[in-house]
Amino acid sequence: MNQENIRVRFAPSPTGGLHLGGVRTALFNYLFARHNGGKFILRIEDTDRSRYVEGAEQYIFDCLKWCGIEPDESALHGGGYGPYRQSDRKEIYLKYALELIDKGYAYYAFDTPEELAAMRERFTTKENPSPKYDQRLREQMRNSLTLSAQETQGLIAENTPYVIRLKVPENEVLHFTDIIRGDIEHNTSTVDDKVLLKNDGMPTYHLAAVVDDYLMKISHVFRGEEWLPSLPFHVLLWKYLGWKKNMPQWVHLPLILKPSGKGKLSKRDGEQAGFPVFAMDWKDPRTGEITNGFKERGFLPEAFINMLAMLGWSAGTEQEIFSLDELVSAFSLEKVHKGGARFDFEKAKWYNQQHLLKTSDRTLAQLAKPWFEKDGIYSGEEDLTKGIGMIKERCHLLPDLVTQSAFLFKHPGEIDLDAIKKKWDNQVYRFFEEWLGQLDAVNESDPASWEHSVHGLMAAKGLKGGAVMLPLRVMLVGGKFGPGVFDIAAFIGKEAVTYRVQKALAALK
Ligand code: GLU
Repeated sequence: MNQENIRVRFAPSPTGGLHLGGVRTALFNYLFARHNGGKFILRIEDTDRSRYVEGAEQYIFDCLKWCGIEPDESALHGGGYGPYRQSDRKEIYLKYALELIDKGYAYYAFDTPEELAAMRERFTTKENPSPKYDQRLREQMRNSLTLSAQETQGLIAENTPYVIRLKVPENEVLHFTDIIRGDIEHNTSTVDDKVLLKNDGMPTYHLAAVVDDYLMKISHVFRGEEWLPSLPFHVLLWKYLGWKKNMPQWVHLPLILKPSGKGKLSKRDGEQAGFPVFAMDWKDPRTGEITNGFKERGFLPEAFINMLAMLGWSAGTEQEIFSLDELVSAFSLEKVHKGGARFDFEKAKWYNQQHLLKTSDRTLAQLAKPWFEKDGIYSGEEDLTKGIGMIKERCHLLPDLVTQSAFLFKHPGEIDLDAIKKKWDNQVYRFFEEWLGQLDAVNESDPASWEHSVHGLMAAKGLKGGAVMLPLRVMLVGGKFGPGVFDIAAFIGKEAVTYRVQKALAALK
């Protein structure tokens, strides 16, 4: 296939937050398009008005932008195959639905909700617990196959609500290929007569997706494995519309599984275990409920993308850390896995840690600024940059930069006195009192000068490092963590050291 003919699409429905599985679908589309010099299209599938949620479309654009995987063509970016929002394409679908009726591949169905419910009740058996409107039952229903042409026209003229359904053939074996799953065979006897056009004049997902994939000249369809059962139906539509030779290649991506490996990862799994499932925070405008996102949790977009790429794909080497550009050049469909990919939040954090280490301290200072401010720290960029450089290898997420370094910018709120008491006696107490009196001699911005001062007095008093160093750390930091004690002292300066040591001594008296 010619490079310029590679056209792929991400086709989300604006119904709420963007699940990480959706972002992964967008990412694989993007990587494939970029790798092959093709085009990445974003199509908004908003024909199900009952599920439409205000603001969700803009949110999808924002998420892709944050991830750095923006489309070439979309309602926002323009392009030669628009409109890119299905609700703006209503007339197009009607035309094709009517064409299918003309060709005898589709029919009008006038059944009311009550009639459909009665049908389900009447035909439910042990063998068939949820009877469908299909080739066996259509003969029993009120549609243009069972009514005369005159009756049908009469009902339409009276504005009787109707849907248009596909007339699925009996016992026909369909053959098609999925790039990841290979050749698939499907007997149409298990496919129901799905609705193509609803009684509000809107198409269903099935009709709209097939028509748009055709008109937008989509070469490859990437989507989650959960859409595989719809594929026979789509293949029939391609056939009946006479477009089969233009049919895209199918790529059904493996499911993203719960951490336990059992079942598809859901929003609820995240809520229960305390990890995000959406790309960015999502506020449901109907309920006001906020669902957390990876961005607000403190993930870097490049780490989030890297982690997602590895859920269902690998380069076939040991390499796990990739930049977006590296993913573009390494990406290939042959390396996409068939089996489900287990989500592991600890591993996601590890990816973020690796990308934090690759990011400059100054950039991290800018990115983490909102978290510092939330913690009441308004230090300048220079200081934040320097402080972050001292502690960043201990951090996984952006807010960790704050928890790990806050003592560099403000006095610790609480001090772990119990940790000090384990090493405490009168001699150590006197050491600290005396040491405070000697600080005039210390060059406060030089860690070596602090070290010289402490070690000098320790030697004079015959004290071992263990007796003094841990208490000093806890006094300055608040707990038993942090970088080198003398680096900390040099960072915070004499006044802060004196204040913190005096405060601890008073509490230990
Ligand atoms: N609108 C569908 C969804 O929300 C897209 C499925 C497809 O890519 O064909 O997932």
